[in-house]
Amino acid sequence: MPGLNSTRAEAAQRSSHLAVESYDLTLDLTKGDEIFESKTIIKFSCNKPGYETFLDAVGKNVISATLNGQPIDTASYDGESFFVKNLAAQNELVIHMNGLYSKTGEGLQRSVDPVDNEVYLYSQGETAFIRKMYPCFDQPDLKATFTLTVTAPDHWQVISNNPVKEKVDLGEKKSKWSFTTTPRISTYITALIAGPYYSVQDEYVGKKKVPLGIYCRKSLAEFLDPEDIFLITKQGFAYFEKVFGLEYPFEKYDQIAVVDFNWGAMENAGAVTFLERLLVFRSKVTERMYNARANTILHEMAHMWFGNMVTMKWWDDLWLNESFAEWSSYLAMVEGTRFKNSWTGFNQERKNWAYRQDQLVSTHPIVSDMKDIDTVAGNFDGISYAKGASVLQQLVAHVGRDNFILGLQNTSPSMPLKTPH
Ligand SMILES: [Zn+2]
Repeated sequence: MPGLNSTRAEAAQRSSHLAVESYDLTLDLTKGDEIFESKTIIKFSCNKPGYETFLDAVGKNVISATLNGQPIDTASYDGESFFVKNLAAQNELVIHMNGLYSKTGEGLQRSVDPVDNEVYLYSQGETAFIRKMYPCFDQPDLKATFTLTVTAPDHWQVISNNPVKEKVDLGEKKSKWSFTTTPRISTYITALIAGPYYSVQDEYVGKKKVPLGIYCRKSLAEFLDPEDIFLITKQGFAYFEKVFGLEYPFEKYDQIAVVDFNWGAMENAGAVTFLERLLVFRSKVTERMYNARANTILHEMAHMWFGNMVTMKWWDDLWLNESFAEWSSYLAMVEGTRFKNSWTGFNQERKNWAYRQDQLVSTHPIVSDMKDIDTVAGNFDGISYAKGASVLQQLVAHVGRDNFILGLQNTSPSMPLKTPH
């Protein structure tokens, strides 16, 4: 039975028969402290008419559902998966649900700031948690466009992957935000961040203009130093656009410090979330912390190209997603920012992390057999990040930095290589 711990075999089954076109998601965040309402319209095709499958849909209950205009019996909904039968070649599935806010940083997290009792929300999709925000085919190779509409208190800011198209006042201190449609992206990097966030705006002008935003809780505003964050961000864009040979693939770039977060940062397309203390320094910090912040900013930014635009088919390639972001963030620090000595930090901290993890019984090959989501959860470690990045660095030393960069930029298999040096 499918459920929270989806398997690679189930994902492969679904992607052999389905192609997803779009998610059109409408959320109402004004339903109280526990529940939010979602209405999702999913358009997808199926190459095997009559096929039955399931959506990943974790929530309180399904209010109603229709497939190609016909009501579906929702009695079989088990809180984790939603089953659909008798698919046509082209399908439109509409699911109206009550979702539950998360208290564990998985799905749509809701936290209350003890300073002023304001509510702050953020979503965490990786590895397989966005299904707690809306029903979807939650696997990286079933990409689709994502169009979001949100009703929320009108003093909030609402942030997603794409820019806000319009904000309409609904009265009763509520507003409705509509966002423009994303390019085709994986479900795990779709995102919603909402609350009365403090924000600062700027713009990067390179191969194209990219609006930049930094957000944090209102009560942290006095500690935010946007100048250095924007400096590293702009240096990162300039560096990656040059080295990857492609303009930034999304429309804007927001960086949001979120509370009650399990990770250092998360590379949601165009809306990166950060552990608060990594982005906002509440006291004087050492240079190492500025280095760590720059590294995190550049790591997440590298994912926009390699991870978000180009994505692993399944989590077996998590190592390459993370190792490449790890390796290229150090390269960008050394070649594109004031942190010229950062390979020393890589060798001292990150490579040592890999050496230590490699001595534990929990060590594993860099390329792991990720048969299900629980296995993936056990592999966000020093092997998948730092040992993988060390091996990539070894490969760079072998073929030469310039050849490696040419390989990254190459879209044709017959590229001539320079002689290694
Ligand atoms: Zn990463």
